[in-house]
Amino acid sequence: DHVGRLGGDEFLVIAEPIGGAYEAVHLGERLIRAVSDPMTIDNTTVQVGASVGIAMSGDGADAATLLRDADIAVYHAKDHGRGRVELCDERLRTSVFRRAALEQSLSRALLGDEFDIHYQPIVRAGTGQTIEMEALIRWRRPGRGLVTPGDFIEAAERTDLIVEIDQWVVERVARQLAAWSERPELADIAVAVNVSARFLDTADFEERLMTPLRRHGIDPSRLLVEVTEGSVLRDLAEAARKLAFLRTQGIRIAIDDFGTGYTSLAHLRTLPLDRLKLDGSFTSDALTDIQERTLIKLIIDTGHLLGLEITAEGIETEEQAGLLRRLGADTLQGYFFGRPAPADAHDTDSTQASDPTNLVATTPSGP
Ligand code: C2E
Ligand code: MG
Ligand code: MG
Repeated sequence: DHVGRLGGDEFLVIAEPIGGAYEAVHLGERLIRAVSDPMTIDNTTVQVGASVGIAMSGDGADAATLLRDADIAVYHAKDHGRGRVELCDERLRTSVFRRAALEQSLSRALLGDEFDIHYQPIVRAGTGQTIEMEALIRWRRPGRGLVTPGDFIEAAERTDLIVEIDQWVVERVARQLAAWSERPELADIAVAVNVSARFLDTADFEERLMTPLRRHGIDPSRLLVEVTEGSVLRDLAEAARKLAFLRTQGIRIAIDDFGTGYTSLAHLRTLPLDRLKLDGSFTSDALTDIQERTLIKLIIDTGHLLGLEITAEGIETEEQAGLLRRLGADTLQGYFFGRPAPADAHDTDSTQASDPTNLVATTPSGP
């Protein structure tokens, strides 16, 4: 075996001959164990970890290809929780190339103005009146039709592209709010935007939201910001500080997809929040499952005790709407009240559903 340092904290091990993939993985595991042994330096015990990526030399693979494949594998290993051994195979190679291609098309999409925003109504539970819209991004991907966020947001979130995408949405929404201000029936509508972790992490996050509002003369109370628990938990104190500032400006803060992640009621108390959005996965089971109903009731009551407003997402039927209303939800959102649709579909009638192409485009995704 030869061992060398490639640079930084990357090392290369050439093992020959080796029996096969199984033996290579075993060697990788031994390497990780050896590297992870605690060391004592000046009376302090330190411990480092390692991830291993393996490429097997097959028929004719040259050194550069082997290095590239090992690199692909070790990045994959790090991505999936460190301290792991990953083998580069055809599947991994394809998924990496596909991901790279997707990232390239996404950055072209920003330049080429291929994104669009669809708006979905959020209604008051008591009256069914539309009081808000959630802004949901769509991608008119050349040759692929209308693509929903489930197929590209995750890829964008792996890079800084998501920051530009979220910023673009905020700008567009501010512009849309200004346009709706001119229409009496939509002048009071508020819009909710989704922000991802990286966007929340930007140093000037607060300005990134406030500046477009100021430029278009929008009252900040017409903007809601939806964050997920996962993105807030990356740096709880910092996120709380930023969100608290936005609240002093009048922007309302909602925690999205509540009940799907590492839900903790303790976070609800410490975070500056106005609203809790109960994930759609609850609403579908609630009709038949009494335990599920009890849980929803508990979450809603606790949220109310903490001064939070509750929105129930994913309402698809009249029964679900009635049930969630009885359980105490303040606002409701879902296909039953309206599908996400382009802004101009809401101009004429704020409760109108979207056109049939949009129905097709939005059906396969969602919670
Ligand atoms: P979300 O914020 O929880 O948005 C609700 C999702 O549920 C939307 O999916 C919506 O179309 C879908 N939905 C609404 N009503 C129903 C219903 O009755 N039944 C079902 N099954 N689904 C329903 P969409 O538009 O595909 O968006 C998926 C997710 O992508 C969003 O979940 C949000 O997390 C993210 N996303 C959307 N737009 C943006 C954006 O501009 N920036 C960022 N960072 N994320 C976004
Ligand atoms: Mg949302
Ligand atoms: Mg949600």
